[in-house]
Amino acid sequence: MSEKGIRTRAIHAGEPHGAGNRPSAPDLVMSSTFVVDEEVSFSANNLDADTPYVYTRWGNPTTDALEANLANLENAEACIAFASGMAATTAILLNHLSQGDHLIVQNTNYPGTAEFARDTLSRFGVSTSAVDTTDVEAVRNAVRDQTKMIWIETPSNPLLRVVDIAAISEVAKQCGALLVVDSTFASPIATRPIDLGADLVMHSLTKYIGGHGDAMGGSVCGSQALLGPLRSEGLSHYGGVISPFNAWLILRGIATLPLRMQAHEQNAMAVAEFLEGHAKVEQVLYPGLESHPQHALAKRQMDNYSGMISFRAADPKPLAERMMAELEVIHYAVSLGHHRSLIYLMQTGDLVDTSYQLKGEERDKYLDVAGEGLFRFSIGIEDPADLIADLDRVLQ
Ligand SMILES: *Cc1c(COP(=O)(O)O)cnc(C)c1O
Repeated sequence: MSEKGIRTRAIHAGEPHGAGNRPSAPDLVMSSTFVVDEEVSFSANNLDADTPYVYTRWGNPTTDALEANLANLENAEACIAFASGMAATTAILLNHLSQGDHLIVQNTNYPGTAEFARDTLSRFGVSTSAVDTTDVEAVRNAVRDQTKMIWIETPSNPLLRVVDIAAISEVAKQCGALLVVDSTFASPIATRPIDLGADLVMHSLTKYIGGHGDAMGGSVCGSQALLGPLRSEGLSHYGGVISPFNAWLILRGIATLPLRMQAHEQNAMAVAEFLEGHAKVEQVLYPGLESHPQHALAKRQMDNYSGMISFRAADPKPLAERMMAELEVIHYAVSLGHHRSLIYLMQTGDLVDTSYQLKGEERDKYLDVAGEGLFRFSIGIEDPADLIADLDRVLQ
């Protein structure tokens, strides 16, 4: 299947092959336990690919089909699905880091990741340095003898910074650290981090991959060698297992992922150009725009600029209130990557002081771009003219 086109793989990768009952659509198996006809070890540490289905926390045919599909789209050997993006994130961090280890994270990480590294990992003796990972030298300078992992996110939330995965992977290889990429904003249609040297790729399946805003999930793709221990400890023991029903919904969403990403990108480009020309809008951040500070890198690294835009406008709080009251098509709501358009004011104070805790020059750099706050706009796949009309009305 790996030599087929991306639209074919999104639909067919992971389909079960074999004798007997062969449904054409993915089959939903909700059973939490399976009738076995041979003795199977009662330890998750003894699981391997040949173990029959025993218990859904260890393995389930619907979840397996989702994992096989995602591994294929990411050009990875293997994939593990989790109950949410954060379940995937915490499983990676806790499974691969131990007391005394050092972690380098992006200083504009997803807030859940930033807060977990700072507040939780520190309790277990893991130290963290937060750096601007768009600056490869800054990452290199943050490396210590104890550095075991570098965690990046591209494009990032909400500045839409683009990080050079291949360049950071060189730094990781030199110091023997694992490179993990949170690729949620990109989706496997835009970027395949494994091909660029990443060790693990993490997704919130709740976003583009599921795509319809009705199922939470997370995933990690990578080599068999890294994912074996992650499955027994990080999934079976930590317990953040995806419901087979959600795996089934997300697999149904993936069938249209390549087509949706095309539509997201086209709509986002139209909306970004409209916003750039609007008198009330001060700044538009979209990797597909020539005005984006890393447009050249985005062009090289991304096959699709995705559908996330951030923009800054005068008097953001009253504007946010007008949006809540008056938007007709666009929902004023958090989250992203759904077929529906979602917009939300990301208040700078919340992120800079609470989640990212930026100081000094890094804080100034952030404020320079974000001002009081950025509207994070996840452009859906509705008719672009309707999205533009909705925005134009509230921007008056
Ligand atoms: C949403 C999100 C997460 C967390 O995923 P959940 O499914 O909400 O747990 C992690 N990283 C990024 C970039 C996200 O957008």
